[in-house]
Amino acid sequence: MTSPTPDHSSTKSMDDIVALCRRRGFIWQSSEIYGGINGFWDYGPLGAQLKKNLKDAWWQDIIKTPPAGPDGNDLDIVPVDCTIIMHPKVWEASGHVGGFNDPMVDDKETKQRFRADHLHALFAENKGAFDNPQTVQAWRDGRIKVLPHLTVVANGIGEAVAMIKGNSKSLKPFRYVEDFGDLEDGYAIKLVDKDNNTVMGVVYPVDQEILKSDIANYPSPFTGKRGTLTEPRMFNLMFVTYVGALQDEDSKAYLRPETAQGIFTQFWNVVDTSRVKVPFGIAQVGKAFRNEVTPRNFTFRSREFEQMEIEFFIRPETAAEWYQYWRDTRYAWWQSIGLAGANLQLREHDKEELSHYAKEGAGVCDVEYRFPFTAPGFGELEGIAHRSDFDLKAHATACGKGEKMMYRDPVTNEKFFPHVIEPSAGADRGTLAVLCEAFTPTPGRAGTQYMMRFTPRMAPIKAAIFPLVNKDGMPEIADKLYRQLRYKYVIETDAKQSIGKRYARMDEAGTPYCFTIDGETAANQTVTVRDRDTAEQSRINIDQVESFLAEHIGS
Ligand code: ATP
Repeated sequence: MTSPTPDHSSTKSMDDIVALCRRRGFIWQSSEIYGGINGFWDYGPLGAQLKKNLKDAWWQDIIKTPPAGPDGNDLDIVPVDCTIIMHPKVWEASGHVGGFNDPMVDDKETKQRFRADHLHALFAENKGAFDNPQTVQAWRDGRIKVLPHLTVVANGIGEAVAMIKGNSKSLKPFRYVEDFGDLEDGYAIKLVDKDNNTVMGVVYPVDQEILKSDIANYPSPFTGKRGTLTEPRMFNLMFVTYVGALQDEDSKAYLRPETAQGIFTQFWNVVDTSRVKVPFGIAQVGKAFRNEVTPRNFTFRSREFEQMEIEFFIRPETAAEWYQYWRDTRYAWWQSIGLAGANLQLREHDKEELSHYAKEGAGVCDVEYRFPFTAPGFGELEGIAHRSDFDLKAHATACGKGEKMMYRDPVTNEKFFPHVIEPSAGADRGTLAVLCEAFTPTPGRAGTQYMMRFTPRMAPIKAAIFPLVNKDGMPEIADKLYRQLRYKYVIETDAKQSIGKRYARMDEAGTPYCFTIDGETAANQTVTVRDRDTAEQSRINIDQVESFLAEHIGS
């Protein structure tokens, strides 16, 4: 884990960022005219271009010009574009049909839905105080802070404790399990951060029968009333749909909850049809869907989102080296697109949490960004994990061919299932981080309170061209320049309103440069160039505008 850094993001208000996104057309609620739909977001003209720039940068840096590997040779990474609906057996083999189940409780009155285990933890920590309206209000206002917690539900407490001890994967966000005491009374297991000795969270081993019978009697954490909660019901995070005319069990299918499985199922076709050989990568950008229980924090936790995933196939014994490589490469990439400051960190998961292979040197880590709503904490942008050969083997077994589907090394003829290092990033969380990082209050600047300081590569509009006034030949010169530049760059031209207002609009859109055609242009072929960050202006020759952009924006 990197050392704590000063917290800049908490000085930015999420409400201001959301308001600017809405007002300027970065991000809107989906179906807004019908009141919106929870967990779904649309990108407006500026946001669509911004998100495209992020995905294009990823595609460019991963697929078109991949980085050099540890041996100095360029990596081999090829793209695929797989369907959102796949054969339902994919999700059985991958473990999603079984694994994505959580018991849920609804508050019949307020229509709020909770994870049953979270509710149990909330009450275990607050010992009945939820019958008191003041406590309820305090919780609703966010004044009661509940430690991060998770609950392990099993058949009896003994089994739950064994699961916690045996399956450290379920303790993913925590670093160290301190004590297994106090089991009869409240069943709390504290998780302590070794470095600074603070309690990071609590695990509750819970008997599923007790959970079932008790929870409906808890008071609602929204109203404090008893008797309004339902019994826990199983809930699968995958969206279900039906393929074909009949809607029955046989036609049931799922919207993919991750893009990775398309890559795994087409691994064999990629090997057979292209010249790749291990080590190599397959990459995919595409939509994923999760029926998240509580979508929140703007686009951070949505129900429909886009992933940018790489599965990098390697020999098992090289896992540690490749894991380190991808960890460092992906962290540096997020820095390169403008998240270079203290708000970005790499969080290595604890050794305790890791699988057998991972313990031999590879592991799991997250690239995290400190969003205004997570500050002083961080939220995940990308997870980098050693997924071993689990998925390839699972599909080989499930489709009935087993070891026949092993990869054969063309040089040594050796047969094996390659291991995988998976850097899995979110395009929407990435876009949101870029928006939050760029958002900059501009006290004292005329016409606007904020500007978006995007790096030139991310900026949705690279430059604006303005005729100072809409006459005297200026619009014609502006139009000519616009038509010349728009083949290379996203350029906007605008003749409405005062020049100050037009600059302010571009500051909010995050446009790095504005060129203005004024009274001098016709006489001496110069235009003004205005810098977004300093608001300073200088004059350059109109013939130099293109080379100016090539130098400052790139090609
Ligand atoms: P979290 O723990 O925050 O739910 P996760 O660990 O389940 O995330 P992964 O399954 O590793 O996420 O997915 C890879 C990436 O996909 C994440 O790093 C994130 O950027 C993105 N992602 C996952 N779930 C969502 C979501 N509900 N909304 C937006 N992006 C998401």
